Amino acid sequence: MIQKPKGTADIFLQDAEIWQYVEETARILMHDYQFSEIRTPMFESYELFSRGVGDTSDIVSKEMYDFFDKGDRHIALKPEGTAPVVRAYVENKLFGPEYPKPLKVYYLSPMFRYERPQGGRMRQFHQLGVEVFGSTNPATDVETIALAWDVLKEIGLTDLKLVINSLGKTADRIRYREALIAYLEPFHDELSNDSQTRLHKNPLRVLDSKDKRDKEIVANAPSILEFLSEESKKHFEDVQQLLNALEIPFSINSNMVRGLDYYQDTIFEIMTSSAVFGAETTVCGGGRYDGLVEEIGGPDVPGFGFGMGLERLVLLMKDQHVEIPDLTELDVYVVGLGEETNVETLKLVQNARQSGFSADRDFLDRKAKAQFKTAAKNGAKVVMTIGEEELSKQQVQFKVMATGKEVTLPLAEVYADFEKVYNLQASDMTAFNEFFGKEN
Ligand code: ATP
Ligand code: MG
Repeated sequence: MIQKPKGTADIFLQDAEIWQYVEETARILMHDYQFSEIRTPMFESYELFSRGVGDTSDIVSKEMYDFFDKGDRHIALKPEGTAPVVRAYVENKLFGPEYPKPLKVYYLSPMFRYERPQGGRMRQFHQLGVEVFGSTNPATDVETIALAWDVLKEIGLTDLKLVINSLGKTADRIRYREALIAYLEPFHDELSNDSQTRLHKNPLRVLDSKDKRDKEIVANAPSILEFLSEESKKHFEDVQQLLNALEIPFSINSNMVRGLDYYQDTIFEIMTSSAVFGAETTVCGGGRYDGLVEEIGGPDVPGFGFGMGLERLVLLMKDQHVEIPDLTELDVYVVGLGEETNVETLKLVQNARQSGFSADRDFLDRKAKAQFKTAAKNGAKVVMTIGEEELSKQQVQFKVMATGKEVTLPLAEVYADFEKVYNLQASDMTAFNEFFGKEN
């Protein structure tokens, strides 16, 4: 038996409904915030990520699905969304005068990372991400963080924590780097192998280590916040003030660096302590990347964005028993009795669908009782029944389930204007629902 590759998932039935709900909610919010969608390829040149994300990052050094194609091009499946969107921004000259400024885009896309699979960690996973190009205003940082916060709130999640930090500009980080190396060097032999390698290549990465002893060592490391220029300090203070103005609670963790090399100034993570993940886990991370567009060959345009892992959101929604609205409501169920009604039954469901209603029928020649049971289970609002007798008289039984009211209608009338027939017959149902205060 052939099985799905390790670290991938099939999503179907109820799970697919949760996914659709998350995606639809996100799209509505993206529109409210005036972001437009961008779709980029599933694979890109390897170099885009080695340059954009950074050679020393875990993503590039360990987790990429890369290969040489038949034309000997070095290709990688996209492990993250920002570098591809920046590439598209540069390649399509989206910085041109005809485009909005700032340019606000979002994506919903699978990502690929060769990682050890566990709860909320997959080899193919999905991200909702946004990127904003062309604004250094701290209000852009905060609007974008607020958007992430809103998405999570809107899908019903609670008990989340926002953590922010500032990485300053390149010059600040160069000075901080030296101080950090000086602090870490005496601990060299106690550091994990990864951190020993990174100590001189990219010491900020050591702050990000998940190793227990590394974490103890970096707890007392100098803080990057002491090394910020006046400009970066002011930017970070403004961000905090704006978050306070929106009453979005946050804390500062000066050891937070994020896993990607391109960040500067504001970075943030939204975390959960939910038991489903075992340890404190990040569901959304992002920040400012003012040098990246230039690095990828474009003009000097600032950027801000985030990536949100949808698998983790879905796990949390299930754990917190978030109720999702029923997206699969059924307007009409057609009960066909007897083989001879097969054609008419199909015509009736198609007619209902073409009039804009959701409709279904039985295909297995089941008894009346079984068909009515299915109709009720799927919450059909109307059940139309056609047996051999009705067929010979060119009629159909039309039953409004909420009231139990049943009438016999000529087929010709049903085909002439189904919407009119439905609304006329079901008007009692509207009154019924209003009476009981249900939404129609
Ligand atoms: P982690 O520290 O958990 O490995 P990361 O720093 O590598 O996360 P990012 O690259 O910032 O994560 O990606 C943003 C979000 O994408 C994460 O917060 C998480 O929700 C999600 N994510 C990242 N990697 C995976 C994965 N392998 N499987 C599922 N979701 C993931
Ligand atoms: Mg990771």
